[in-house]
Amino acid sequence: MREASGMADPLLDRDAATAALARVSAAAGPYLDSLAARPVHDPAAAKLLAGLAGPLPEHGDGTAAAVERLLEIGTATATASSGPRFFHFVTGGTTPAALAADWTAALLDQNAFARVSSPFAHEVETVVLDWLRQLFGLGAGWGGALVGSATFANFTSLGCATQWWGERQGADTVRDGLSGLPRMPVLSGGYVHASARKALQMLGHGRDTVEVFARDDVGRADLDGIEQRLAGLGGAPAVLIANAGEVNAGDFDPVDALAGLAERYGAWLHVDGAFGLFAALSPRTEHLMRGIDRAHSIAADGHKWLNVPYESGFALIREPQRLGTAFGMPGAAYLPGPQDPGGGYGLYGPESSRRARSLPIWATLAAYGRQGHRAMVERHLDLAQHLARRVDEAPELERLADVPLCIVCFRVARPGLAEADLDRWNRAVGEALIADGRVFCGTTVYGGRVALRPAIVNWRTTPADIDLFVDVVRELAARTGPDVTSP
Ligand SMILES: *Cc1c(COP(=O)(O)O)cnc(C)c1O
Repeated sequence: MREASGMADPLLDRDAATAALARVSAAAGPYLDSLAARPVHDPAAAKLLAGLAGPLPEHGDGTAAAVERLLEIGTATATASSGPRFFHFVTGGTTPAALAADWTAALLDQNAFARVSSPFAHEVETVVLDWLRQLFGLGAGWGGALVGSATFANFTSLGCATQWWGERQGADTVRDGLSGLPRMPVLSGGYVHASARKALQMLGHGRDTVEVFARDDVGRADLDGIEQRLAGLGGAPAVLIANAGEVNAGDFDPVDALAGLAERYGAWLHVDGAFGLFAALSPRTEHLMRGIDRAHSIAADGHKWLNVPYESGFALIREPQRLGTAFGMPGAAYLPGPQDPGGGYGLYGPESSRRARSLPIWATLAAYGRQGHRAMVERHLDLAQHLARRVDEAPELERLADVPLCIVCFRVARPGLAEADLDRWNRAVGEALIADGRVFCGTTVYGGRVALRPAIVNWRTTPADIDLFVDVVRELAARTGPDVTSP
């Protein structure tokens, strides 16, 4: 299938781009249409993955053949994580406007490093950060940075917190690092996400620098414990992490109370709102985010509840000039500095060269506005309540937590079974769900018990998808139940 010889050089194949894009576009329609019904994962298709491998080609197949092969294998083997029944992790889809804008970002291939590399990308990012600020009801002074994920948003936020913490002690951590300083106190409840620890590990504080104050085995924050520790620091600066939307049940730390503690003791308050920040979009849930405007930094994801493609996260910072201080990159003669007119967002965050990930965010907010995104959030709130009802009605399902948001934490259960047997059964159901592929959901450990925790944040999801999910869980629970002897 090799094209005419010499096609291996892209310069000689340059006219192939239009046809290759047309092929992608032609494949897109059927793929998107299939999402409503196709399984999330087809284990039988995995054998096709071998078609990607082999030694590095000496002479390429040319644009058309390579793209065709990728499309064929990709559409057959990809998990349908942009479809309506991928309830594992917290996984958003991609709205039509966001998907088309993401293709546009690849077409234009801007380097969103600075104004000098792309005034267009810089302007879109400026608009988008202000729209996000307004979407979440934050005051006019807030700024931020678009990053690849909530992990990087935690990193960016806690990087600013580190710079602030050093400054409070007359140290310049940006220039000199952490050596010679005491350990930075970081306090949180038991809901603290692994990615906040990862951010602290990348920043040189170590992931175990987090002191966890939990009042139960689910992880609810022990505010008295946090306050006592703050009082015991004798005025030394500390960082508080509030968790707004934890991953097991979608519960919230009391952001407002933690903001009060931060103010009383002069601490930096960071809020990890990877998906929970979107509670601010609905009058039904905005109380969960009360106090958010008193935080110093907020981390959130675009690729979860905003329904834009990977990779998309953002950090919002109350004193945005700290971004340039913490992440500026002075000293290279060919680069602009953070305050230069030619500078830009590559100097206000951890990445330098970066794609224009603002485009899909701009497009989805331009296309659907505040009310469209509110409607999507509220539909997911309704679907989560619908799922909770279906769980409550099923005799062999036991809900383990309230459902404040978009996650339903439950397990299969039967009276009289020992906890260890229940854990084994629930793990078996989790594994069977992944192997089955009709719907997708993972297990967790909640309050010491193995549980399922479907998260609903995809714009395509309907009540029928939730019903199918419950039906499949019940079917697999019966098939893996404790009276079934394994082969
Ligand atoms: C998903 C999540 C993260 C990490 O997000 P990534 O986009 O995977 O980096 C952090 N915190 C919370 C609460 C999350 O749900």
